[in-house]
Amino acid sequence: MNKKIEKVSGTIAALATARGAAGIAVTRVSGPNAAEIYRKITNKEPEHMRARHTVFYGDGETRIDSGIALFFKGPDSYTGEDVFELSSHGSPAIIDVLLERLFMLGSRQAEPGEFTKRAYLNDKMDLTQAEAVVDLIESVSARTAAAATRSLVGEFSEKVNDISKAITELRTLVEAMLDFSDQDLEETKHPDELIHKTKEAKKSLEKLIEQTRTGIRLRGGMVMAIVGEPNVGKSSLFNRICGNERAIVSSEAGTTRDIISENITIDGFPLKLLDTAGLRNSQNQIEKEGVKRAIEAGESADIVLEVVDAREWDQNKKINKSMLALNKSDLLIKKQKIDSNKVFLISAKTGEGIDNLLDHIAGLFMDDDSCDSSITARKRHLKSIKEAHEAFCSAERGINEGHAMDLVAQELLEAQNSLAEVTGEFTTEDLLEEVFKSFCIGK
Ligand code: GDP
Repeated sequence: MNKKIEKVSGTIAALATARGAAGIAVTRVSGPNAAEIYRKITNKEPEHMRARHTVFYGDGETRIDSGIALFFKGPDSYTGEDVFELSSHGSPAIIDVLLERLFMLGSRQAEPGEFTKRAYLNDKMDLTQAEAVVDLIESVSARTAAAATRSLVGEFSEKVNDISKAITELRTLVEAMLDFSDQDLEETKHPDELIHKTKEAKKSLEKLIEQTRTGIRLRGGMVMAIVGEPNVGKSSLFNRICGNERAIVSSEAGTTRDIISENITIDGFPLKLLDTAGLRNSQNQIEKEGVKRAIEAGESADIVLEVVDAREWDQNKKINKSMLALNKSDLLIKKQKIDSNKVFLISAKTGEGIDNLLDHIAGLFMDDDSCDSSITARKRHLKSIKEAHEAFCSAERGINEGHAMDLVAQELLEAQNSLAEVTGEFTTEDLLEEVFKSFCIGK
């Protein structure tokens, strides 16, 4: 079932490395004219996977630069087409002349992500792998990079395909039942096997939803807002976690008026940390605006950490936020006993309890058992997998309640089609445009 909807044409060229003065720069060319262009620019015959030190010739044998030319004969290349890469000196002026020459010889400027899109269209990778290319390039922490690498080598697709295979098996069982008359049914339908396999597949789908959620958090990070009344130590905690003096710490209430944010990693997980204005009634217009923004930040954050002064903590008060930090533990005469996994006794001043708090925050990124198998994922994956789950649950109800088997078969097929959207086996033009527009030129 290959539902890829378009083929791209022409030979494309683009700078594959970042623009700017650098030791070397790599320019990439892909398409049906690649071999011919290679001959003209190097005066040499292309050979698969052979790196050559050569002159890059301009019009009339002028020399543009010299460097390494590396040719790949399709389909054994990144895009599946004939490809070559020129490693030249990394001068923007040389790159401009080189690209101009490549265009003159029969190529055009590549669109964003067009190399990877061609790789996808030529079945060199599926859509989740193509997306993982961007995840890997953009990863800001080692953990995200490791997860993106897993998606890139196909571990995410494998999880999706395994469930799809299980659903194919179920469809075979269900369709076999359609071929028998009522009295044969009891002996042939193997209801136990069907019910058991349905349960297993549903469990796998639910696990995949959790893994996808983790993958989204790993890729995009989470936002954590620190909120609380003035003077409880929010800015001090913010600075302690960030390891710098970004936020102003003052014993005067109401010093943080705007939201201060910092991108950090905690145990390799990307986190955007927000320090917000102290929540209190104020007549000061600027402070009022700060409080309004603090409330909004609290509403939109993934994690809300409320800070209170440990000396004023009321154990009986309900915890409305994700976590509660009882700060200034160093000022307590007697330490309270805490029996909630959402409450942390800390001191932003001495650092007491901070590691424990950070461990807990890092734990919020992962589901229980995906530590070494996490992948990177996107919201669109989650949407499709949830749709697959919904259709699958209808099919399961149908099996358990003895609905018409043709309806069950149809629902199983719907579940499978939703899964096929994740890997791009089943796509629309809009989806492809959406996916590849986030790429840069040259990728
Ligand atoms: P915010 O208004 O909630 O952001 O609070 P700040 O971080 O500006 O701190 C208010 C005051 O409390 C400052 O004088 C800090 O030095 C002090 N403070 C903050 N955290 C602690 C702590 O853990 N222990 C002690 N003893 N003082 C703290």
